[in-house]
Amino acid sequence: MQVQRVVLNSRPGKDGTPVPENFRLEETTLAPELKDGEVLVRTLYLSVDPYMRCRMNEDTGAEYLTPWQLSECVDGGGVGVVESSRCTTCAEGDVVTSFNWPWQTHAVMAGSGLQKVDSQLVDGHLSYFLGAVGITGLTALLGIREKGYVTKGANQTMVISGAAGACGSIAGQIGRLDGCVRVVGICGSEDKCKALVEDLGFSAAINYRQEDVAARLKESCPAGIDVYFDNVGGAISDTVIAQMNNGGHVILCGQISQYNKDVPYPPPLSEETQENLRSKNITRERFMVLNYMSKVDAALFELSQWVKSAQIKVLETVVNGIENMGAAFCSMMKGGNIGKQIIKISA
Ligand code: NDP
Repeated sequence: MQVQRVVLNSRPGKDGTPVPENFRLEETTLAPELKDGEVLVRTLYLSVDPYMRCRMNEDTGAEYLTPWQLSECVDGGGVGVVESSRCTTCAEGDVVTSFNWPWQTHAVMAGSGLQKVDSQLVDGHLSYFLGAVGITGLTALLGIREKGYVTKGANQTMVISGAAGACGSIAGQIGRLDGCVRVVGICGSEDKCKALVEDLGFSAAINYRQEDVAARLKESCPAGIDVYFDNVGGAISDTVIAQMNNGGHVILCGQISQYNKDVPYPPPLSEETQENLRSKNITRERFMVLNYMSKVDAALFELSQWVKSAQIKVLETVVNGIENMGAAFCSMMKGGNIGKQIIKISA
């Protein structure tokens, strides 16, 4: 069978901005016969995620992430359907996902590396398994539950950076559902601000590209900031932390503003921000969703219930075609997405 795949064409360099030309589309042939334990899957949806920027480097800087190799097929989160199987745990027609799905239109994979999913959990919106009812929803939910210390009735204000992205858009809604009285998002466009307030029920939204973030935070968080869900790091986070209340909590989810720089993770903080954290007794522990896998099943069920009952609204930016994987990744890294960036590969 002839299939299309995406390979790594070149590396952007540790300090470089990724470009679509870092990826290359190729045709390849799949072996006609499956071996014992293998399945043939048709790819439905693929995910592009910020952590992939590290996988473009020769040295990812993280033990749990292997680098993508030049001229080899790129992989990441994917969802697809089993077309034929020589594996006892997968049958034709099963919907399956993996964190290591090749960027390929069809693939032969070991059945043992696939998770079967129940499409009823997402009312048939199978792309949600890569977002709201998948890793980004889990990151939002478990990040808040493990590091946010949100308490009903405590009159807390939560601020989210990267608020209109996959994690951020869900995190703000969970902050509200879990009991924060104000939820304020920071993001990069007017359209995103509008979506946060009008569609997702955020109390206010700040466009960091056009507005004075410090002034707008003062205005929209009159009682200060208790919980900060940090997706971006850098100057935005310094500004938020400067306005946090004593005993506040930073959920250190990600630092995307620093991913095209040759700095360790988490990137070092300025003296001033360190002093703010120290003097106000603010917690800021690193959060990694992969450390909470024992809580995943219950958390996915909770996310699924919220999505099905429309208590959580899901935003997605969907691009069609495997040939657009590289462009979709680069666009997401620069803010081209509202909600989860998804690439639809086949129907
Ligand atoms: P998003 O859907 O949020 O996409 C990335 C967004 O980041 C863009 O849309 C853009 O939005 C914003 N952005 C890009 N560059 C900058 C910048 N310089 N300053 C401010 N904002 C910027 O991606 P995800 O939801 O998948 O990931 C969000 C964060 O969560 C990332 O930092 C990621 O690494 C982290 N993460 C952490 C996990 C964990 O276990 N800790 C697991 C999964 C994700 P805008 O228009 O607003 O600029």
